[in-house]
Amino acid sequence: MFATAMPIYLDYNATAPLRPAAIEAMTAALGVPSNPSSVHKFGREARLQVETARQKIAHLIGGRSDELTFTSGGTEANNLVLSGFNTVIASRIEHDAVLDARRDALLVDVDERGVIKLDMLGKMLSDLSAEDKKSVLVSVMAANNETGVRQPLQAITALCHQHGVAVHSDMVQLAGKYRVSLAEFDLDFATISAHKIGGPAGVGALWCKAGRRLPAIIRGGGQEKGMRSGTENVIGIIGFGAAADAAASEIEADEISRNLAKWHAAFEQTIRAACPEISILGDGADRLFNTSCLALPQIASQTAIMALDLDGVMVSAGSACSSGKVSASHVITAMGRGDLAPYTLRISSGWQTREEDLATLAKAIIGLYKRLS
Ligand code: PLP
Repeated sequence: MFATAMPIYLDYNATAPLRPAAIEAMTAALGVPSNPSSVHKFGREARLQVETARQKIAHLIGGRSDELTFTSGGTEANNLVLSGFNTVIASRIEHDAVLDARRDALLVDVDERGVIKLDMLGKMLSDLSAEDKKSVLVSVMAANNETGVRQPLQAITALCHQHGVAVHSDMVQLAGKYRVSLAEFDLDFATISAHKIGGPAGVGALWCKAGRRLPAIIRGGGQEKGMRSGTENVIGIIGFGAAADAAASEIEADEISRNLAKWHAAFEQTIRAACPEISILGDGADRLFNTSCLALPQIASQTAIMALDLDGVMVSAGSACSSGKVSASHVITAMGRGDLAPYTLRISSGWQTREEDLATLAKAIIGLYKRLS
């Protein structure tokens, strides 16, 4: 009954649709052989395009372009920084690109809203010897991909720096949505990814505060000042730059974020009023304006996703990076709501979303819940 000619896409935290500016910029560059290390005209042009994109991306996150190293995505950027330290302390709700990169990480708990327990982090830091502190990295994501819950980054960096410990943040879900100032957050390292901001998949970057260097994990031709060898993904980087530019203008105009915040609030209000049994994960916490994470008691996520897909709306269950994986979400479990983990639905919107998309989804979810519960 809800099927529409154009399916409604509400899975932006998995990947955002390519922005027209990115498509245009990449298409224009496709026919030219592009190796930025080549000295000839085409090589020099490719270098110029890569450096221009680097500046646009640096501008988006309030950093300097010479502090950015291009990688094959958020996953590689996380692996690069996490491999550079003897000991890693991370929150329990990090993406697998952190938790699996360092299975030996010491884990900090979160509260029932999904916010890191600063007192526990403080205790872990106090227990380290002065010698250990020199080789420890704390890694806490800026915003969670499943629940949208944001972490108090300034308080985290202040605490870690009191102890002389370096801090990394996986900003994959925050960058491109909010005005970010790396100087204000006082971070040492940050990860970003192109396909979450409307650029292509397969390209990302690690920002390292000036003066910091890391041992390379991919060695070879010495590209990216030796931090990441391999001929640059020029087309991907051009698309990343164009998407960063478009996202920065969007943040400046502030219209899309205000609209999405309003529409998500109305969506959650409609669901709450019609089906009070449906929980909203991370309720009460500071959350990304584009993310709602619901739990529909007794309706398995996969069943709900398939039913909604038939209704023409695409959403996901928790992290799509782990699609096919049926194990319970470690994020929801860490929030003490493992009982709800099999029933969660993640709704995430973005630059192409319309008010009626969320209104249609609310009706579809209410209909589905009343039918199946
Ligand atoms: N970190 C977070 C928070 C993510 O949501 C994702 C992807 O879902 C990644 C890292 C991985 O980024 P990429 O897909 O660019 O490797």
